[in-house]
Amino acid sequence: MAIIEIKKYPDPILSRESAEIKEITPEIKKLAEDMIETMEYNQGVGLAAVQVGELKRLMVVQIKQKPLVLINPKIIKKTKETEAMEEGCLSCPGICLEIKRARGIEMEALGKDGKKIKIKTKDILAHILQHEIDHLDGILIIDKINLHGVN
Ligand code: ZN
Repeated sequence: MAIIEIKKYPDPILSRESAEIKEITPEIKKLAEDMIETMEYNQGVGLAAVQVGELKRLMVVQIKQKPLVLINPKIIKKTKETEAMEEGCLSCPGICLEIKRARGIEMEALGKDGKKIKIKTKDILAHILQHEIDHLDGILIIDKINLHGVN
């Protein structure tokens, strides 16, 4: 395993959209393992592949102190109810912003073994998952402030 250097704002790669993963190859599995190590080393709670320079729809998150790999994640349901929470980002060091997101979500993804995973969650974990999906679409917390204003 290896720790990879994290891309920081304003690196233009962070604004690009990541591509769907067609096949879970040994390279993808290795990337996922390195991302887990990188996330843990940096004491993060989530990391998207684009943050280590790979434009692939792959992210890792900490759920109850255990790392989980999510491939091609999709939000299939969102609550209308929103909640604002302070968020930081390993790609925007030193910045902490209050971001409004859906309070609860349902997500589908593939695990490292290619099996379908369904997650239904709310509050902090729902925010983390939406934050990481934003990365796959090239959106940073800084962009959300520009789009919607601070409230
Ligand atoms: Zn982030």
